[in-house]
Amino acid sequence: MLKFTDRGIYCVPGDFYVDPWKPVDRAVITHAHSDHARWGMKRYLTHHHSIPVMRHRLGEDIQVQGMEFGESQNINGVRVSLHPAGHIIGSAQVRMEHRGEVWVASGDYKVAPDGFSEEFEPVACHHFITESTFGLPVYKWKPQEEVIKEINDWWRSNAEKGVTSVLVAYALGKAQRVINNVDHSIGRIFTHGAVENTNVVLRSAGLEVLPTTLVEKETSKEEVKGSLVIATPSALGTSWMNRFKPFQTAMASGWMMLRGPRRRRNVDRGFVLSDHADWSELNTAIKATGAENIYVTHGYSTIYSKYLREQGYNASVVETEYEGETDSGESVDA
Ligand SMILES: [Zn+2]
Ligand SMILES: [Zn+2]
Repeated sequence: MLKFTDRGIYCVPGDFYVDPWKPVDRAVITHAHSDHARWGMKRYLTHHHSIPVMRHRLGEDIQVQGMEFGESQNINGVRVSLHPAGHIIGSAQVRMEHRGEVWVASGDYKVAPDGFSEEFEPVACHHFITESTFGLPVYKWKPQEEVIKEINDWWRSNAEKGVTSVLVAYALGKAQRVINNVDHSIGRIFTHGAVENTNVVLRSAGLEVLPTTLVEKETSKEEVKGSLVIATPSALGTSWMNRFKPFQTAMASGWMMLRGPRRRRNVDRGFVLSDHADWSELNTAIKATGAENIYVTHGYSTIYSKYLREQGYNASVVETEYEGETDSGESVDA
């Protein structure tokens, strides 16, 4: 039913694509990150929580239709429905059923709840398309509350010394996850423009993002002293940071598990917090689908598909243009 083409994942009987990376007529979009929701599609279909950010990024004039989780739609004889992927707000797995055959394209996902995204649900299928961003046993996440406590402790101890805490996190997903979970009694939370824009868009769609204040030209040194500043990776090392002196920097990312990326990023602290499944989450999620055929996309795809074959799956690598959690760019995953 599905074919992997140079435009993206193509549903042959349905005549639509899932997260295509080249312009097509009809696209079903798993989530609003820029490597999955791209510009130039004639028609988009996605979860309604993804629409505000997609409009903000791709233009108010895009033709997009929203769906609820669990709701289904018939596209040229293919029954299409969306199911929570737990990756960021609105992120969906796309279930496609045609003549008794079921495929699920999961986009990006994580299994553990984060208090903001809709919680991941396993979907039974015959064919499952999985990411493998953190598909190595070394990647093992702590429960979110432990990481949030580490962030609170870091922020509090900085604040007590009159030091500002600058935390780098991706603008969509990770930023709101941190904002909604840290202890607001420690101080105020300021934001970089890219983060605040996303917050504003989400709030205007009725989603709850706790109070934040945009850092503006007029924002004084005194005002930000001891507060938590949520910035995008691109802000690190720029003159925008000067007003926060003295400050400490940190990054919240799955890559903080490794020493290399932390040093490359030149941050003082790394918090291991990812919006992707870790090794054991990937394995349990795949098992829960009951699928025999697994297609492994972005990440450690070669090594992870080999592992899956050893476990008895019919697994193969699929080349895509999804980026997973990168160590650069701010618009992609967290
Ligand atoms: Zn991705
Ligand atoms: Zn993503």
